[in-house]
Amino acid sequence: MARYTDASCRLCRREGDKLFLKGQRCYSTKCALARRSFAPGQHGQGRKKVSEYGLQLREKQKTKRFYGLLENQFRTMFDRAVRMDGKTGENLLRLLELRMDNIVYRMGFAPSRAKARQLVTHGHFLLNGKKADIPSMTLKAGDEISVRQSSRKSPAFENISGARTAPAWLSFDEEKLTGKIIQIPTREDVDLEVKETLIVELYSK
Ligand code: SF4
Repeated sequence: MARYTDASCRLCRREGDKLFLKGQRCYSTKCALARRSFAPGQHGQGRKKVSEYGLQLREKQKTKRFYGLLENQFRTMFDRAVRMDGKTGENLLRLLELRMDNIVYRMGFAPSRAKARQLVTHGHFLLNGKKADIPSMTLKAGDEISVRQSSRKSPAFENISGARTAPAWLSFDEEKLTGKIIQIPTREDVDLEVKETLIVELYSK
């Protein structure tokens, strides 16, 4: 599968916001955005007048990069959101939050979404007792994720204690290495600062 392989921190600097792509480093003084809070490239420090289209594009790019999706994956997700009842922008954020890789990250099993995706792909998790290795799966309320018995001694799960606190819509049992979706997240549960209506406007052109 295609994936982004360039420097992750460039993406944060481009968006002017922390996207938390590099685990613990994002919380340290080594964060590239803290040290160079301007866009990358030759003209990164120049003042630019941003058009309406530019604003919409940045909101879309920020959201896509925050969740680690490529354009076609993100567009497919948007098309699903359009077909659902309710506000398209909120549906989109809800679908993104309910991806298996994001849930694994949110529960604290992995320091970043990229690492969570790798752990899922490598087959370390069970979903409701059955092997689940597709990071893009959409989960639902009541679903339970656990680490496979054969993976529990893996170094990947040695230091997850205190990595992050699961949000209120998820539960996490550190001893049993199990987490559950208590309820579907609301817009207020999504901690990404984004104007999702601009994404809807961009794709509606
Ligand atoms: Fe972004 Fe993390 Fe890099 Fe900081 S350290 S710029 S938050 S990826």
